Amino acid sequence: MKAPIVIVGSGLAGITVLRELRKLDKTIPVIVVTADDGAFYSKPSISNALASGKTAAQLAMSPAEQLSAQFNAEFRTSTFVEHILADQHALLTSKGRIEYGKLVIALGAHPIRVPMDGNAAEEVLSVNNLADYARFRERLNGAKHVAIMGAGLIGCEFANDLAIAGIQSTVFDRSQHALGRLLPERSAAFFREKLESVGVKFHFDTTLSKIERAETSLTITDSYGGQMNVDLVLSAIGLKPAVELAQEAGLAINRGIVVNRQLATSNPDIHALGDCAEVDGLVLPFVLPIMQCARALAKILAGEEAAVTYPAMPVAVKTPACPTVVCPPPMGSEGTWQEAVSVGGVRAVYLDAQGEMLGFVLLGEAVQEKQALLAGMKAWL
Ligand SMILES: Cc1cc2nc3c(=O)[nH]c(=O)nc-3n(C[C@H](O)[C@H](O)[C@H](O)COP(=O)(O)OP(=O)(O)OC[C@H]3O[C@@H](n4cnc5c(N)ncnc54)[C@H](O)[C@@H]3O)c2cc1C
Repeated sequence: MKAPIVIVGSGLAGITVLRELRKLDKTIPVIVVTADDGAFYSKPSISNALASGKTAAQLAMSPAEQLSAQFNAEFRTSTFVEHILADQHALLTSKGRIEYGKLVIALGAHPIRVPMDGNAAEEVLSVNNLADYARFRERLNGAKHVAIMGAGLIGCEFANDLAIAGIQSTVFDRSQHALGRLLPERSAAFFREKLESVGVKFHFDTTLSKIERAETSLTITDSYGGQMNVDLVLSAIGLKPAVELAQEAGLAINRGIVVNRQLATSNPDIHALGDCAEVDGLVLPFVLPIMQCARALAKILAGEEAAVTYPAMPVAVKTPACPTVVCPPPMGSEGTWQEAVSVGGVRAVYLDAQGEMLGFVLLGEAVQEKQALLAGMKAWL
């Protein structure tokens, strides 16, 4: 029997590779090894699940048993990979050794934690999977005020979702703007105003330094010494690719696990994709790039020749108070933003010295221009 393809991780990256592979090859043995229960869910739905009225259990779309039958694959759930023995083509897991022919690493990313003072510092929640979300919902029961660390995409989406559920949120960020890394200044001001109009409060140029439990609430202190009482603290300050296992196995690491356009790591029998991977220099922890990678990798695992391509891929920010689409210019590119602000929206384009569009941002009613602007964008890869 052929040595199995082993996929580590059952998130969007791992399951999409499996699904795409089965379109090309129905029989090659596949084992999915995952630390969680293997249920498939749409992670982006987590930050607007209050608005859609869904609990964590309702977000789980297909249990592992169903995926196993549907895709003719063995699922080893609640199984932690502890070491990759690349020279032996084997994994050591919390439930024993597993041998592979080809290995696919789809381990995702870890929420970044910052050290904080106070006896409740450990109570800060991050939400990066369904189990985290279930915990968040439990803690949210009866909560009236949530502090959110980080005014990035995920922090702002949670703030808007909480507002829809009638829960006050105060968002803290070191930068001067909401979605600071994605929006130019006037766009950020428009976005902020819209979120404030539904009750979200922003505290910029600061962060939380201390969290103390005070009976039923938490007393939080910001870096200027300002204090307030909240019911819970959610951290959304970013994610770090899960590179530890690959690094220990001697694979090349940069910001993520380094892979080429064939999604191969520095070991040709080991591939990586998803939030843990750096594809030809790009770390893009979003759904569309993962789909592109999964399709290319499935072909390669099925024995075909393929290379991943990235068209420009905008991200829709799920903030109903201010519908937003961002298509950021490539990191390090030189150019200037041109922002056209109207009462109903903002259209901002990032142009280089020759007038070529390298990125864009659309807010409010301008989001309907997405397809038109996208048509003028060069491919990323
Ligand atoms: C709240 C939120 C909202 C988002 N919204 C959007 C959006 O609107 N649009 C968009 O494009 N993107 C969005 N994203 C990003 C997108 O959801 C992710 O890029 C994508 O889901 C990542 O998939 P993944 O499979 O790489 O990682 P994950 O889904 O994190 O999967 C990692 C898998 O690895 C397993 N694992 C980890 N360690 C081990 C181990 N040692 N042994 C075995 N298994 C292990 C885990 O159990 C899990 O199954 C959002 C992300 C979040 C958190």
